[in-house]
Amino acid sequence: MSSPIYVIHCFEPIFNKLLTDFLNKKFDLYYTDIVPGAGTCCGYSNFCKSKGNNPYNSIIENFIENIMLNINLAMSLNDFKDIYLINHQNCKVMKTFLAENYNQKKEIEINSEILEYAINYLSNKFPNHTIHAGLIDINGTIANYYSYTKVWHIVHRGFGKDKKGLWYHS
Ligand SMILES: [Zn+2]
Repeated sequence: MSSPIYVIHCFEPIFNKLLTDFLNKKFDLYYTDIVPGAGTCCGYSNFCKSKGNNPYNSIIENFIENIMLNINLAMSLNDFKDIYLINHQNCKVMKTFLAENYNQKKEIEINSEILEYAINYLSNKFPNHTIHAGLIDINGTIANYYSYTKVWHIVHRGFGKDKKGLWYHS
């Protein structure tokens, strides 16, 4: 049996079906850790520092503490090597905490930036694990972000056909 992948995603309900479709197709075994904002929490502090803003937010700190508890517990039970952060289009948590309004181009840019910080954050905490990051749109299409090359690459086409999907034209 292959080792599981540890997936962290946001709690917004419209993405659950789309994500389950992707995860079932892609992985035999996976953990799902539901954390509001997903990668936004892990990248938040350094993202804020880079903008000259206060990096401390007690709610985000609680979310991160939960992520760490859950990952460490999972590690004590199962041997796994991969952690996968999946952000999503129109994340209200991200909008709330970053207090930004953005168009689609900017939304992808912000996700690149915050996921870059999130990957670094988790890589420092778990140096023996590989950290992956992705962004799911309203159609269920997922692109992964590669921090070495700073490019997005589509890894899954969802079943939705909405032209407002972030990756619809990609
Ligand atoms: Zn969200």
